[in-house]
Amino acid sequence: MSECPLCGLSLETESVTTGDGNIFSCVNCGPYRASNSFLAVVQSLDGRGRAAISHRLILRRSGEGIPRVTSYDVDDAEKNPALPGIPEAINRLLLWVFQNSSALGDLVDLRNQEVIAFVGVESGQAVPLLLRTLKTDGLVDVWPYKGGAKVQLTPEGWQKAEESEAMGSVRFRQTDWNRVNRTVDELRSRLATAETEEQCQGIGLLCREILISAGQAVSAIDPQKPESQVPSPTDAKAHLEAFLSGRIQVSTQSVTRKYARAAWGLAVELQHHRTATPQQAALCAEATAAAINVVSILANDPRHAV
Ligand SMILES: [Zn+2]
Repeated sequence: MSECPLCGLSLETESVTTGDGNIFSCVNCGPYRASNSFLAVVQSLDGRGRAAISHRLILRRSGEGIPRVTSYDVDDAEKNPALPGIPEAINRLLLWVFQNSSALGDLVDLRNQEVIAFVGVESGQAVPLLLRTLKTDGLVDVWPYKGGAKVQLTPEGWQKAEESEAMGSVRFRQTDWNRVNRTVDELRSRLATAETEEQCQGIGLLCREILISAGQAVSAIDPQKPESQVPSPTDAKAHLEAFLSGRIQVSTQSVTRKYARAAWGLAVELQHHRTATPQQAALCAEATAAAINVVSILANDPRHAV
C-alpha cells in the first residue's frame, strides 16, 4: 500500500494517475492533486515544510474541487514553512473538536488523523500536549478509549469555540478567491514560456485580473465599510486600499497602500507596454503575488497565500 507523499500516512485507497501527476486521498491531508513536478521535489522538504503544505491544503479544501499542489508550493514552503503558533494551534484544536461534535456532550475520537493537518502541527505527538492545555483551562474533558482518547467539550469550551468561530479569521468570498488561485497558477505556467512582447503583455493582463479578483473577494467581507461607500466591482485598487486601510496601523498604512497601488500600476503598465520583456513580466508577476500575500497576511488566513 502506498503512502501520502506529504504526511507519510498509509493511504486507504491507491492514488489515481492523471495526465500531470496523481490524485491522492489522504485522511490527514484530504484529497489533493499533486503535479509530477511536485512529486519530483517533495522528498527534499523537511518535516516542517511538508506539514506546512499539508496544513495549507486542508485550509484550501473548503473551496471548490480538489486542491492542487505543484513544485511552487515546495519552493514556497522551503522559504516560509509557516505553521500556526502555539496559541493558534490550541485554538484550532478546540475548533476541530467543536466542528466534529454535533451537540454538547458528544465524544470525539482523536485517533482520526485529520486533526494533525487541521491544527497545523508537525506530528500527532503534539496533539496530546495541546489537549492538556485545553483540559487545564477547563475547555475539554478527555476520556481514555481503546488505547487512544475521546474528547468532550465542556460548556465553557463549547461557548469559547462558538465565539472564536464567529470572530474567526476574515472570511473571503471563496468563489472569488478560488479564481485568484486559479489565475495565479495560470500566471506561473505562462510566465515560464513567455518570450514575445504579446505574451509578456498578456502576463500584465493576467496580473490585473488577479488584483481585480482579489479586490472583489475582500470587498465582500469588509464589515467596516458602509454599503454606500462600497466601490464598483472593477475598481480593484479602491477595494484593496479600503481593505488595507481598515486593517493596518496608521503609521504603516501609507507605505502598504502605496505598495498595492504600485503592484496595480506595474500590471497596467506592462499590459500596455509595446516592448514588454520577459524580465518585466517576471517582476510584475512577483509584485502581484506578493500583493496577494500581503492581503492574506492582513486577513490572518494562510489559506489565501498563493
Ligand atoms: Zn497526508
